[in-house]
Amino acid sequence: MLRTLTLVIAVAAIAISPVLVSADEKAEAKPEILFQNVRVWDGLSEKLSEISSVRVVGNKIAEITVGKAKASPGATVIDGGGRTLLPGLIDMHSHLVIHEGMVDGRTNYDQMTMGALTAHRMVDYLQQGFTTARDAGGNLLGIAKAVNNGRFPGPRLFPSGGFLSQTGGHADTGFFNDQPGSKDNLETNGFGYICDGRADVLRAARQNFRAGATQIKIMGGGGVASEFDPIHATQFTIDEMKAAVEIAEDYGSYVLVHAYHDRSVQRAIKAGVRCIEHNFLVSEETIKMMKEYGVALSAQVVMSVVAFANPEEITFFSADQKAKARKVNAGAVQMFEWARKHKLLTVTGGDMFGVDYGPRQADNLIAFVELLKWPPVEVLKTATSNAATVLSWSGDMNPYKEGKLGVIQKDAYADVILVNGNPLEDIKMVGRDNVRVVVKDGKIYKNNLADSK
Ligand SMILES: [Zn+2]
Repeated sequence: MLRTLTLVIAVAAIAISPVLVSADEKAEAKPEILFQNVRVWDGLSEKLSEISSVRVVGNKIAEITVGKAKASPGATVIDGGGRTLLPGLIDMHSHLVIHEGMVDGRTNYDQMTMGALTAHRMVDYLQQGFTTARDAGGNLLGIAKAVNNGRFPGPRLFPSGGFLSQTGGHADTGFFNDQPGSKDNLETNGFGYICDGRADVLRAARQNFRAGATQIKIMGGGGVASEFDPIHATQFTIDEMKAAVEIAEDYGSYVLVHAYHDRSVQRAIKAGVRCIEHNFLVSEETIKMMKEYGVALSAQVVMSVVAFANPEEITFFSADQKAKARKVNAGAVQMFEWARKHKLLTVTGGDMFGVDYGPRQADNLIAFVELLKWPPVEVLKTATSNAATVLSWSGDMNPYKEGKLGVIQKDAYADVILVNGNPLEDIKMVGRDNVRVVVKDGKIYKNNLADSK
């Protein structure tokens, strides 16, 4: 009896002990970074803070203090010299496994090369101040897993996995003489899936989530950088779109769609798609419909307004692709105006790859201000707090659930960048050369403050 009682007490003690010893007391001291002498743009405010200190403990922001804070013993102290600390930038439309044209990995190189180039680019993203990327298609799934497991450096990744596209759709990168339903080129490498009919869509969406996709990307209409789909084409029936949405919702996530014109976008909205990529050829009616349904806009300024103004210079485009690019350029400026007028939830990402565009992701933000005359604060929100709102729609598929992204607040993830000057007055301060310190998940990936500039 006594023995039993002792055992009961012992078991009870084991059961309650985790409550008595808090996690903080047990944990070893976490590394600390203290930014002194910085002005903070928190991802939301209309202006910068007073000169402040921001304390990072472990992978979270622990404290934001106006004035000077005292460093803990052993902390890394960074004197910002009055520069601006803002949330790490979020690219909402990357293709980290595409490096030149869409078929580069098949015709010029192999998948080993594509992976190596991707690793190289992810390091460059961090150097540019982009600490998170939502990947809008291509097989980044294994790479995202490896980055999350700490195997090699990269931004936080929200991969869509392989594109879902119909025969002759925007991700059909087959050859002219391919037989209908020829899927080998795409599916072998997980680059994308040719889906005709509900069953194909269900299978591809499930396959992506199985390997860690955080949302699903479908191709809902013609595109510029592809061969077999005229830009006016609407792609996927509403039933096929709904099939993708059903699976995404079953995983607690959402669908984003590549779509340019009214018919594609409106069909996607009716099917339950939550984020429209590009959107450059729509009418104001469609913009109003997006607002009504709470659908987000994810659009790119450099690729529509700048690059497509001179498509002749894009060496890997055919004559037909160049003609499509010119058409998009004409619609884009008007679309951005309506989006702002109707206060759409707007996010952005460059959709920029290749040796010329890849290293200049922030040019997309700069172009919003310089070419479309959007106020810098609104533009910066598209790549920080607005972006985080859309990322949160990945629900339980989001691998980063312990803290907020896209803001500088207590307990948010410590993803911050220190830039020269005041980006609310001069957006060029988020350009790569003005990004001086980059911290992602509490780790320093760049600090060139010792260099003069
Ligand atoms: Zn894209």
